[in-house]
Amino acid sequence: MTTGTLTLVATPIGNLGDFSPRAAEMLSSADIIACEDTRVTRKLLNLTGTATNAKMVAYHDHNGAAMRPWLLDQLADGKAVVLVSDAGTPLISDPGYKLVAACREQDIPVLSVPGPSAVLAALAISGLPTDRFMFAGFLTGSAKARRDQITEIEGVRATIIWFETPSRIAASLAEMADILGPRPAAVARELTKLHEDVKCGSLDELAAEMKANKPKGEIVLVVGGKPRGDEEIDDATLDGMLRAELDGQRLRDAVKAVVEATGLPRNRVYRAALALNGDEKDTS
Ligand code: SAM
Repeated sequence: MTTGTLTLVATPIGNLGDFSPRAAEMLSSADIIACEDTRVTRKLLNLTGTATNAKMVAYHDHNGAAMRPWLLDQLADGKAVVLVSDAGTPLISDPGYKLVAACREQDIPVLSVPGPSAVLAALAISGLPTDRFMFAGFLTGSAKARRDQITEIEGVRATIIWFETPSRIAASLAEMADILGPRPAAVARELTKLHEDVKCGSLDELAAEMKANKPKGEIVLVVGGKPRGDEEIDDATLDGMLRAELDGQRLRDAVKAVVEATGLPRNRVYRAALALNGDEKDTS
């Protein structure tokens, strides 16, 4: 008996017009459709007029361990299995990785029907460099863990893409401005939908904008990578620049001037300025 194939099918992230003919064909001809949520996929099939005799089963983080052996048996039995998530490309912050890894281990063929993904759509329209990029997943809810996540990517010289919620986006942008410095960014909202909107600016400008006008809907945040030349500003050079600015200016204004001139993260400049101020007070 010939082994079946697992096919990963991308579905629209908001606009049904993005449902491809090949995606429809795969869902129509499948023996089994493994869905993140069968109700969501049934709705998609109805709205797009896609008929199928496939058995529809749920496959998600909570039943994956139990469902995987069954799906692998069906594949070994020659069945055509399609995997879909609620929206976009399966496996991208969605279920499926362990199933694909198990298929690879068992030499079960895996095919893709590529299509919409919020990650690439946001990157492409952000206006930020696309030659090197890193998808960093969801930012977490806990403030400490989120700071750690942001600090972790501080040195990455590639555009960074995050998924974030409307309720936290302003706080995350402010945190990033603090840790990463004045980098360019884009907030891409409701992509492919009626209220699609992309706001571009520096991290602190966008933080202020999102705080003033609380956004709604689904969001991807795209942030510029670590600027080139940053590492050339060593502590002694930074201290020299700060001393010049601190002469006759308040600490806050001196820090602002040096951040603008160097593109260094505000927290590094601020810490250096505090240390200098402390030193000067100690010796006076
Ligand atoms: N696998 C999906 C993909 O490839 O696009 C991503 C699934 S992930 C669970 C859902 C997150 O993707 C949302 O919370 C949001 O951050 C982002 N997202 C999905 N659709 C979007 C859209 N139309 N506009 C902006 N962001 C979107």
